[in-house]
Amino acid sequence: MRLDRFLTHRPELSRQKARQLLLAGRVRVGGQSVQDGLHPVDQWSQIELQAADGSWQTLQAGAPRCYLMLHKPKGCVSATQDARHPTVMDWVEPAAALHLHLPGRLDFNTTGLLLLTNDGHWSRALSLPTSELPKTYLVTTRDPIAPETEAVFRAGIYFAYENLTTRPATLQVIHPHQAWLTIHEGRYHQVKRMFAAVGNKVVDLHRQAIGPVELDPHLQPGQWRALTPVEVEWLR
Ligand code: URA
Repeated sequence: MRLDRFLTHRPELSRQKARQLLLAGRVRVGGQSVQDGLHPVDQWSQIELQAADGSWQTLQAGAPRCYLMLHKPKGCVSATQDARHPTVMDWVEPAAALHLHLPGRLDFNTTGLLLLTNDGHWSRALSLPTSELPKTYLVTTRDPIAPETEAVFRAGIYFAYENLTTRPATLQVIHPHQAWLTIHEGRYHQVKRMFAAVGNKVVDLHRQAIGPVELDPHLQPGQWRALTPVEVEWLR
């Protein structure tokens, strides 16, 4: 719902009054002043209004914001529900109670860093396929990685379905069949499609980092921990 609609649902606030309060910086969402009436809010948003005496009145307490990293194991779907397969939520006990969702996905057998949150504003930018945040993967391939692959990935691969060329990606080969790959977007099956485009095949895929946030080396597959406040800010 839009913030201005939330405000005008209150019997004491006319549309004009709500607009004035917003423009005067007297409305806070999640502790931040918001002047834009189109700002999205939901039942988890903390919304406050500044009274005439300057004190802040809570209109909606909202839910505590929660940000987690999971070491996704193989063999589960990056979704909140699935009729046939286990989902990543099965590994995170408080997921349902906290109304967590996923800003981004990994394939069924891809392992590694997956984020979960109940903060829709935080996750929105992260979820976009066009988000330029680098994502680093450890890739294991069926065939030896050809020497020209690094240059081909740097130049970009044309994806006919989306009619676009991938942004320059960095490939660092560490073994004939293994490399670190950093991409700057998140297209559907992007890593597998990039290797398929050069005639190779990904046989194992693991995400190690999203931007400056690295998978915690203490987390075994299936384990999770809360993000630190610094990690949350890095991804904002
Ligand atoms: N690219 C893929 O092909 N699969 C993933 O799970 C993530 C990125």
